[in-house]
Amino acid sequence: MAASASPFPQTTLLAMLVGQARQAARISRHLVARASAARAAAAEAIDVTTLHRGEREAWADILDRIPADPDHLLILCAYCHRVRGESGWTVLPGGVEAELHAWPGVLLSHGYCQDCVRLQQLEYAPALSA
Ligand SMILES: [Zn+2]
Repeated sequence: MAASASPFPQTTLLAMLVGQARQAARISRHLVARASAARAAAAEAIDVTTLHRGEREAWADILDRIPADPDHLLILCAYCHRVRGESGWTVLPGGVEAELHAWPGVLLSHGYCQDCVRLQQLEYAPALSA
């Protein structure tokens, strides 16, 4: 029985397979690059979401401290710019203090947190006792 003849010469078949393999490799590299870009975008979105969650929680904490009483003051430390709350002094996220100053619903005043008073006492106490 005679072997059936291939419609392609062997070198043509080999060249076609190599071309298909190269095309598959190009597609694979493209897909890897797209997956990498998607992963980077997702990581950035997670970072932004985490930042926004922190800012939202900080705002919720600040708003909880502002009762309906219009005479209620929100006290900021004049040195470290933390805000005084019932559970202590809290660091404000970046830009929030400027927004508080511009917000008509908030009365701000400045004081000194215990940490900053302590630091000032350590710095100036020797001069005062001399
Ligand atoms: Zn302070």
